[in-house]
Amino acid sequence: MPSIYLLGYPLGHSISPAMQNAALHECGIRETHYQKLSLPPEQMDEMIAALRAPDCLGANVTVPYKQTIMPHLDSLTDLARDIGAVNTIIKRDGALIGDNTDAYGFLQALRERGIHPKHCRAAILGAGGAAAAATYALAQAGAREIILLNRTLARSIALADRLVPRFPELEFAINDWDALARMHLVINATSVGMSPHADETPLPANISLPRGAVVFDLVYNPPVTRFLRDANQRGARVIGGLEMLVYQGARAFELWTGQTAPIRTMHTAATHVLQSMIESHT
Ligand code: NAP
Repeated sequence: MPSIYLLGYPLGHSISPAMQNAALHECGIRETHYQKLSLPPEQMDEMIAALRAPDCLGANVTVPYKQTIMPHLDSLTDLARDIGAVNTIIKRDGALIGDNTDAYGFLQALRERGIHPKHCRAAILGAGGAAAAATYALAQAGAREIILLNRTLARSIALADRLVPRFPELEFAINDWDALARMHLVINATSVGMSPHADETPLPANISLPRGAVVFDLVYNPPVTRFLRDANQRGARVIGGLEMLVYQGARAFELWTGQTAPIRTMHTAATHVLQSMIESHT
C-alpha cells in the first residue's frame, strides 16, 4: 500500500494522521495511507530503508529527527538548509529530498489574520526547529528586527550564525529581554506550556508582555495556553498553534500529491482530534 510516514520517537497521540488521511480521502487518493513510523534512533537505518521502499511517497518528520535525519537524505532544499531542520521529506525519482513547511505554515497563519510582518519587530522565545522556521519566515517576509530569547544561549547563537548572514538588513539581537517592550509580535516557539504542563509559561515572572502586541503561541495543545491567557489579559491579540499546524500540513500534502490541499477538511479533522485528545485527559 502506498504510504506517507510520520517519523518521530516516541510518537504519542498525533493530529497529523487524521488530518492527512482526511485530506487524502477528500481528494480521492484512497489507496495511500498516512501512518506513524516510530523507531528509536538506533534504528535509523530501518527508518531510511522504509523511506527508500518504492511504496513510500514521502514523510513528515518530528522530534527528535528534524536535524538528525538530514545527513541521510539525498538532498535538501535551500529552505531546509537555511532553517537547519527538515519537517517534510519528498520523493522525486526515488531520491529523498528534505524540505521544511513550518515557515510557510507560520506565515500563512499570520496572513490569515491579516497580519503582514514586513517592517515588524518580533521577539521569538526559543531557538529550536520551530523557532528557526519562524525566524526565517519573518526575516524573509521583511521584518525589521528580531530578538531571540532562549534558555540555552549557545543554541540562539548557532541560529543567529546561520541566519544573520542571509539577511544583512535585519536588526538581530540575542537574549535582550529589555527590547521586548518595543516588539509588535511575540512568539512562543518553545515547548513550554504544552499539555500536560499547561500551567507553565515561557515568560519569566519579572517580564511583562508589551501592550497591544500580537502574541502567537506555536503550541496547539492546549489550544489556549497560559501564555495566551496572560497575553489576552494584557490586551494582546492572540493566535494559537493549530492554524500553523494545518497550513504546514497542507503545504506538505501539496508537495507529496501535487493536488491542492483541502484546508477546511484538514482543519476540521485536526480540531476533532485535538478535542478528543483534550477530553481523554479530563
Ligand atoms: P525543539 O527543537 O526541541 O526546541 C524546543 C525549544 O523549547 C528550545 O528552544 C528549548 O530551549 C525550549 N524549551 C524546552 N523546555 C524549556 C523550558 N523548560 N524552559 C525554557 N525553554 C524550554 O522543538 P521544536 O520542534 O522547535 O518545537 C517547539 C514547540 O513548537 C513545540 O511545542 C511544538 O509542538 C511547537 N511546534 C508547533 C508547530 C505548529 O505547526 N503549530 C510546528 C512545529 C513546532 P533550549 O534550547 O534551552 O533547550
